[in-house]
Amino acid sequence: MMDFRTLPDGPLRLENVTVPACLVGQAGGLVRTALSLDGGRIAGKGGTPVDMGGAMVLPCFVDMHTHLDKGHIWPRSPNPHGTFTGALETVRADHARWSAEDVGRRMDFALRCAFAHGTRAIRTHLDSMEGQDAISWPMFAAARDRWRGRIDLQAACLIGCDGFSRDGAFRDTADIVADHGGVLGMVLYPVDDLADRIEGFLEMAAARGLEADFHVDETLDPGSETLRALADIVTATGFDAPVTVGHCCSLSAQAEARALDTLDRVAAAGLNMVSLPMCNLYLQDRHAGRTPRMRGITLVHEARARGISVSFASDNTRDPFYAYGDLDILEVLRQATRIGHLDHAGDDWVRTVLDHPAAACGFAAPSLAPGAPADLVLFRAREWTELFARPQADRIVLRQGRAIDRTLPDYAELDDLMETP
Ligand SMILES: [Zn+2]
Repeated sequence: MMDFRTLPDGPLRLENVTVPACLVGQAGGLVRTALSLDGGRIAGKGGTPVDMGGAMVLPCFVDMHTHLDKGHIWPRSPNPHGTFTGALETVRADHARWSAEDVGRRMDFALRCAFAHGTRAIRTHLDSMEGQDAISWPMFAAARDRWRGRIDLQAACLIGCDGFSRDGAFRDTADIVADHGGVLGMVLYPVDDLADRIEGFLEMAAARGLEADFHVDETLDPGSETLRALADIVTATGFDAPVTVGHCCSLSAQAEARALDTLDRVAAAGLNMVSLPMCNLYLQDRHAGRTPRMRGITLVHEARARGISVSFASDNTRDPFYAYGDLDILEVLRQATRIGHLDHAGDDWVRTVLDHPAAACGFAAPSLAPGAPADLVLFRAREWTELFARPQADRIVLRQGRAIDRTLPDYAELDDLMETP
């Protein structure tokens, strides 16, 4: 593999590279082509030729659903049983330690990981209950400024829907979100007056001109149908800002006809779906002494067949909701491919970590077209089986045409934050 650090400055022509046809406006699977790089951008032609030997090239990634504020607390707050309830309770207890410095240092650590793996845009959720919003949002805004030009950052507030009321503390949270250019977010699960809460939430978002991002039905209880309720309310109210729905696990446990009917409503409402397959695999269908039978992943094939925007994202990293992960979206796509049988099912699933999430969130679209920034990830792999067989730890990441230092931060940096207070 070419060592980009030893190449002279000046225009280059990467000959004999392999790219997904869907990214260069062609039909079919992978195609061999050439990419010219000039002045930090992709150019139409020209440059000193370099034979890339068939290396796969992708534009840098978009990770549209993360929890940077929770990341890397595992050593001090491990999930006691690996369950969803254990995750909720453990994180809630850990909140006492979420000073601006604590959240900020863990967030910066996570962003350095994501950057090294080739990600250039991230949306994170930020726990915003019980006064945490006043700490985390200004700290997030500072991180967004610091990372500008390397990773485009967005944030969505996170509260449980039983913590929502039209005239309670969430109004202040919504104002903080609006002040920081954020997205209004909430977790939906069955509660008695769910429809009223969703309507009130969307009214607050509309009054402030905010987009919406929901965690929905992160459970295998088939009776959890908050996605269905949300889709119907969005359609009925005509709420017209982009709406994202994450998880949607219960669809996979419902009777087929019912789940597909809900997806028809999601399509009609124009909701953007994001699946978090690694976190689902960890939390869903976990029972002590019993082998899990269900994967938790939502109905991604059926959703795409209905024209719904489907993306995959990291979700949690090294926290009680997911013990592992490193904000490597290639790992997410590799795992999603295996968990969801994306192989043998069309050629353009790579778009679920590129232009689909970019469009859902309003990030600049990752592109290989002339004029786009030369923000590229290059692999020794020459086809999908080679790409997904290895972690691709030796990938090269170019930002504006230059190879970045891909050294990952050392976990020991965070040791002092993990000590017992
Ligand atoms: Zn999440």
